[in-house]
Amino acid sequence: MTERRTAIVTGSSSGIGLGIAEALARTGMNVMLNGIERPEEIENHRARLESYGVTARYSPADMTVPAEIHGLVEQAADAFGAVDIVVNNAGIQHVAPIDEFPDDKWNAIIAINLSAAFHMTKAVLPGMKSRGWGRIINMASAHGLVASPYKAAYVAAKHGVVGLTKSVALEVAELGITVNAICPGYVQTPLVQDQIADTAKARGISEDAVVRDVLLAAQPTKSFVTTDQLAGLALFLCSDVAASITGTALPVDGGWVAQ
Ligand code: NAD
Repeated sequence: MTERRTAIVTGSSSGIGLGIAEALARTGMNVMLNGIERPEEIENHRARLESYGVTARYSPADMTVPAEIHGLVEQAADAFGAVDIVVNNAGIQHVAPIDEFPDDKWNAIIAINLSAAFHMTKAVLPGMKSRGWGRIINMASAHGLVASPYKAAYVAAKHGVVGLTKSVALEVAELGITVNAICPGYVQTPLVQDQIADTAKARGISEDAVVRDVLLAAQPTKSFVTTDQLAGLALFLCSDVAASITGTALPVDGGWVAQ
C-alpha cells in the first residue's frame, strides 16, 4: 500500500491510547481519536497530531453502545476513505471484592473492555477484507494472562480479549489481516492512579504500600511500563514485516507473567 494509512484508536483521549495515536500520526497515518470527553477538551491533542502533517479527527462515540461504534467506523471511512488499523484500547477498571462488586461496574467493564472490541472488529473487517490488508490490535493486559484478586470483571474481560484475538486471527489469517493483543503491566495513567486508592481500601493498606507492594511487586523490573514502549510495539505490529505475527498475546510487563 502506498497511500496514507488510517487508524482508529479507541480510548485515545488519554494514557496509552493517546500515546499510540500520537506515534501513528508521527509516522504519517491519519488518526481517528476517541474517548468520553467533549471535543473541545481534546482539541489540543487533535491539533498536535495534525502538526505531523496528517488528518486527525475526534469522535466521542460511547464504547458501551454498538450503534455508536458502527457510527465511528462510518465516520472514519467517510473522512479518510478506509480504515486500515484499529487499536481497541478503551478500557476502565473497578477494584472491589466479588461479593461487593457492583453489577453496573461489571456490566460497564465487560461492555467497554471486551464487547466493544467485538463490535469494532465486526464493523471494520469487511473493509479490511476487501482491501486485503488490516491490523487489529487489542489492548489486553497482563491481567489477560494471569489474575489478581478484587479485579474479577477486568480479569474476565481481558482474558476474553485474548480469546477474541486468537479466534478472529484464525478467521482472517489468509487475508492479509493480523490480529494481536498487547498485554501491558502497570503503566502510570489515570486508570492506574484511580485504582491505587481503591486497592488501598480493599486491602486495608496505604497508597504508598499499594505502589510498592502490589503494583511494582508484580513487575520484576520494579519500573512502570511506559506509553512509549507500548506505542513502539503497536507501530511494529502495524508494519509489513509483522505480517506473520498474528493471534498472539504479547506481554510488555517488566517480566510479570514470567514468574
Ligand atoms: P486511561 O484511563 O488513561 O484512558 C482510558 C481511555 O478510555 C480514555 O480515553 C477514556 O476516554 C476512554 N473511555 C473510557 N470509557 C469509554 C467509553 N465508554 N467509550 C469510549 N471511550 C471510553 O487508561 P489507560 O491506562 O491508558 O488504559 C488504556 C487501555 O490499556 C485499557 O484498555 C486498559 O485496560 C489497558 N491497560 C492499562 C494498564 C495500565 O497500567 N494503565 C495496564 C494494562 C492494560
